[in-house]
Amino acid sequence: MSVPDARAIEFGCAPKRGPTFVRGSVATLWDEDGNEYIDCGASFGVGNLGHCNPAIVEAIQAQARELIHIGPVFGTTAKATFVEKLLSVAPRNLGRVFLSNSGSEAVEAAIKFARASTRRKKIIAAMRGFHGRTMGALSATWRKDFREPFEPLVPGFEHVPFNDIEALQKAVDHDTAAVILEAVQGEGGVHVASPEYLPAAREACDRTGALLILDEVQTGMGRTGRLFAVERWGVEPDLLTLAKSLAGGVPIGATLATEDVERAFQGSHNSTFGGNPLACAAATAAIGYTVRERLWERADHLGTIGVEKLRGLEAPSVREVRGLGLMIGIELRGKAAPVLQAMQEEGVLAIGGGSSVVRLLPPLVIPEDQWSSALDVLGRTLSHG
Ligand SMILES: *Cc1c(COP(=O)(O)O)cnc(C)c1O
Repeated sequence: MSVPDARAIEFGCAPKRGPTFVRGSVATLWDEDGNEYIDCGASFGVGNLGHCNPAIVEAIQAQARELIHIGPVFGTTAKATFVEKLLSVAPRNLGRVFLSNSGSEAVEAAIKFARASTRRKKIIAAMRGFHGRTMGALSATWRKDFREPFEPLVPGFEHVPFNDIEALQKAVDHDTAAVILEAVQGEGGVHVASPEYLPAAREACDRTGALLILDEVQTGMGRTGRLFAVERWGVEPDLLTLAKSLAGGVPIGATLATEDVERAFQGSHNSTFGGNPLACAAATAAIGYTVRERLWERADHLGTIGVEKLRGLEAPSVREVRGLGLMIGIELRGKAAPVLQAMQEEGVLAIGGGSSVVRLLPPLVIPEDQWSSALDVLGRTLSHG
């Protein structure tokens, strides 16, 4: 039963590679020809709970029978339940939530909230950082090839080298509305913030009255071995963005803020689909499952196994293995694309991070033997490369 290849008529710049998928379960994917793959990144960091997690499926089915959509100015029990649940697990200083539909939208909201509450213009972001593709989020994103064709972007953005405390201190001044950072740069190739970097960013913001935005779109929901990566650094952001795995695979974005930020905010911002009951019900189930199963501990455990195994390879094609929890980057001396292709042919799907990094973002629920097989495939590929 073959379907026409939609990729031929889709407008989009995502590199198209290989299979068309029909089904997924936990960490396994099947394509239309019945081939089986281990997913170590195909869902781009969305799949923390695995494909078609029954807890999510049931929540969606139950909610779909009750109410699928109501506009954002009205309350729903699905939204109220989710918001309360999210705030109960989020960093305690964050008491307000704005809901949207994607990571980029969560970042857009954070940027808008920062500007409209500080009434300042400047936003400091990091080189190699990634915050999304809409114009505001893109202005905070670093990669030239993502930015250039769309210039002029939003004015007022400045980039500083990641993990360079002095450069950050110099850049943040009394015109700075916000500093936006990832605790672990994902798209940029899995670069982990040093233990001192985020506290120093907090301090620079406090000194000048700027806000600290932590973009946890990729690092949130257990991915790095904590429910939120920021827990490892012990800083309190003013704004925190979530998306990707937050609703177990259903599109959602969330921008968390302190009550102070909300109090100072003057303006309006909204989203038609933001906080829609279906996404909220899925997200409530996703948080419930993550907390019940303590998935961040699995991420920590499996991530440690993975990094040790990959470092032990001592393959000449590997420059460095980096990671935090189940967010792992293997920096190669050459291009990542041929390695990704070779792995795919062996039934393991991973993604790139920059041009020379193989990035692994497997579901946190991946069975240990499957994780081990995937690492073996990667190891063999690297040793032959
Ligand atoms: C993926 C990502 C985004 C953008 O999310 P979309 O849902 O693709 O808009 C923003 N920030 C970070 C850190 C991301 O990893």
